[in-house]
Amino acid sequence: MAGDRAESCSFCGKPAAQAGKLIAGPAGVGICDACVSTCGRLLDREKTRDGKPAASAAGGPAMQEAPAKQPLAPIKLIPPTKLRLELDAHVIGQAHAKKVLSVAVFNHYKRLNDRHTQATAAQAGDLADVELDKSNVLLIGPTGTGKTLLARSLARMLDVPFAIADATTLTEAGYVGDDVETVILRLLQAADMDIERAQRGIVFIDEIDKIGRKSDSASITRDVSGEGVQQALLKLLEGTVCNVPPAGGRKHPEQQCIRVDTSDILFICGGAFAGLDRIIARRGGAKSLGFVPPRNDAPSLSAEQIIAGLQPEDLFSFGMIPEFVGRLPVISVLEPLDREALIRILTEPRNAATKQYRKLFALSGMTLEFSREALEAAADKALALGTGARGLRSVLEGVLLETMYALPEAAPGSKFTVTAEAIRGEKPVSVSAAAPKKKAS
Ligand code: ADP
Repeated sequence: MAGDRAESCSFCGKPAAQAGKLIAGPAGVGICDACVSTCGRLLDREKTRDGKPAASAAGGPAMQEAPAKQPLAPIKLIPPTKLRLELDAHVIGQAHAKKVLSVAVFNHYKRLNDRHTQATAAQAGDLADVELDKSNVLLIGPTGTGKTLLARSLARMLDVPFAIADATTLTEAGYVGDDVETVILRLLQAADMDIERAQRGIVFIDEIDKIGRKSDSASITRDVSGEGVQQALLKLLEGTVCNVPPAGGRKHPEQQCIRVDTSDILFICGGAFAGLDRIIARRGGAKSLGFVPPRNDAPSLSAEQIIAGLQPEDLFSFGMIPEFVGRLPVISVLEPLDREALIRILTEPRNAATKQYRKLFALSGMTLEFSREALEAAADKALALGTGARGLRSVLEGVLLETMYALPEAAPGSKFTVTAEAIRGEKPVSVSAAAPKKKAS
């Protein structure tokens, strides 16, 4: 019956049109090719784990010995100074955050290697029995200042899976929204469903300041998206074996879940914590450090001053519960990006936006240039948007849209120049024909 045909994968929700193949079951149920291979891999892995090699389960020689489970090789440790240098190639400014993260990541993977290999025991000497605590990280800073970029760049350098989650989409188990385990599902997906690899990955949880305890919720309604989520995340952050629903969303009893140990997963949480400086100043934290306490009209504290003055109770006033703050012992504060930083972001990082557009034009045999004034105008426009460096890309995309639309029809070798007027929308992007090639004499 046509009405009963599956329109989308019942596991991942991918529409039939996007699935390579959608295998139909009864009553409108279907499964896509990607989910079939994921399930296949899971079954294979389970068979091997039970001590039955996949071959014998499929009728192979029964006496065959179970292959010893190959432990993953230790993570190649990169010293903090080298990590920092690599970060410099991708992220502009944010010196404190880079240093803090380089050390945290180095220590995290040292701890991981120590937990899984005996090789380091001799080095630790009489400290061999000492268990190293997990050092999850909290990055505080306005939107678009590089929190996610830092976390993503580190994961790439270390070649570990990386996933981003938005804390505001999570709710306490049993309520409408996503269970916290979907965060781990994202990591599993980034690891191509390889559990061992996912277990040493990095998760970035954004908007963590938006799950503060709602102070007025104590009596009537449960605080399922605030304190409830913090409570649910506690265990994940600390390290637990959690059950991850393979299709995400909400867990239900009949579902076969994937067991993932989060003890070695590094969690980096990010949030804007707007007004944190005022809270520190009001508490007298800034005064005691020798800073002038800001009045309402006074300039806000710098990231350095916030770092120096920050106490856990300042985060409690955002509704973060003490246990949660306690699971994030490593803290850094990112600076808001000023005009000069935005100009550098446009041109310096390895994948800077202007480099990417220049490459796109070069691939069509054209040249693209930006005047210094154009970069300044773009930075000004992004500053006005108030979304940090995030606005830069959309500014350039808007300015170059018409040019890119007509690019294939342009005279081969044309040179395009983006000026400040073009950025401000006063003039189109200027174009000049390729200089005629001089004849060799
Ligand atoms: P957030 O702090 O909100 O997590 P992101 O890291 O997602 O911000 O930044 C958004 C985009 O802006 C990044 O993909 C990157 O292109 C750019 N960006 C932000 N901050 C920086 C920075 N400090 N250096 C270089 N690029 C940056």
